[in-house]
Amino acid sequence: MISEKMRPFLANNSAIRMMFEEGKKMAELYGADKVYDFSLGNPNVPAPQRVNQAMKDILDEEDPLFVHGYMSNAGYPEVREAIAENLNQRFGTKFAGRNLIMTVGAGSGLNVALKTLLDPGDEVITFAPYFLEYRAYVTNYDGVLVTVEPDQETFQINREAFRAKITAKTKAVIINNPNNPTGVVYSEETIRALAAILEEKQKAYGHAIYLISDEPYRELVFDGATVPFVTEYYDNTIVVYSYSKSLSLPGERIGYVLIPDEVEESAMTIDAATIANRISGCVNAPSLVQLAVGRCVDCQADLAFYDRNRKTLYEGLTELGFTCVRPQGAFYLWMKVPTADGTDASAAEAVFVSAAKKYHILIVPGSSFACPGYVRLAYCVSYETIVNSLPEFAKLSQEFIVKTC
Ligand code: PLP
Repeated sequence: MISEKMRPFLANNSAIRMMFEEGKKMAELYGADKVYDFSLGNPNVPAPQRVNQAMKDILDEEDPLFVHGYMSNAGYPEVREAIAENLNQRFGTKFAGRNLIMTVGAGSGLNVALKTLLDPGDEVITFAPYFLEYRAYVTNYDGVLVTVEPDQETFQINREAFRAKITAKTKAVIINNPNNPTGVVYSEETIRALAAILEEKQKAYGHAIYLISDEPYRELVFDGATVPFVTEYYDNTIVVYSYSKSLSLPGERIGYVLIPDEVEESAMTIDAATIANRISGCVNAPSLVQLAVGRCVDCQADLAFYDRNRKTLYEGLTELGFTCVRPQGAFYLWMKVPTADGTDASAAEAVFVSAAKKYHILIVPGSSFACPGYVRLAYCVSYETIVNSLPEFAKLSQEFIVKTC
């Protein structure tokens, strides 16, 4: 018999994943070019050629025992040093290779960080709307996820609501910047305010409160937006990074956890995280792609591709009368359900998502991010998908926007 802990997962399997499967079925039925699948954050831009070449070169040049063998549980020292050096150049930091633990993507990195920090009953705060896997990751270690309601004007952090949620049991806070699902970039002012509240509460409760900064979209920013490097603002920061989005490598499963020397008991925390990586069963991050990213630390994401999609979609939808948050980062657009005001937002959202399917448009309901009344569109799709979806969105808008005027 399966565990009590797993039962709820069967009942509430990921809506995003289900929609992705549905999209594939619809594509078989109607043809891939007639389905506008904005469900999954699976990059449509191929990985940079340099990454592929690095993999080939590594296979040709290096000893197979080195390339395919076990290495230190934290990863190859030379890869960790290359990444630390690159971060130091970009952000003026002073990291060493020992501050990094290579992980099986950010998902695993978050699990490593939480396993390292949490005792049963510890509280972890995050901000709605949020990547819903955070809830599962926190409960994996018998922690309790506490959510802060959004500021629906800006989708920056709701500071007073955050302050009110911190208790003696708060062990960690997770932020995601740039943000999935809103596409918002938390400003320097927001990060400074967050750090000040955390400093104040650490003093009041007499123990560390860790800030886990989940940054798979760090480089995906537009309109000149900058993402503050959080370790510079708050000492007890642990950064979780992934190459899934920046280098279009989600299936390869590669990322890292960064634990700076300024973190309380940093050496012990790094050792514990390295063990957490091993005993999670991952043992170490995959070797070939780990070596490849070590050779490609300065590779860039194809920002121009995402930017064109972002502008075309945002402008197209707002012209049709939809209310959207102008995305500054990641590759998501956060749109208000036109009929959500003053009614049951979850019900309005369900009707909207299902109506969109009539036009072969797949979008993810805001409740999948604990924020009903909105939908998320992942615009990491082909440009043709964006352009061809707009006449279908026009039909959807006639059903919803005209009706409510
Ligand atoms: N965190 C956020 C906010 C994400 O959106 C995702 C993936 O979509 C992840 C973590 C997990 O990324 P990875 O593929 O590196 O495990």
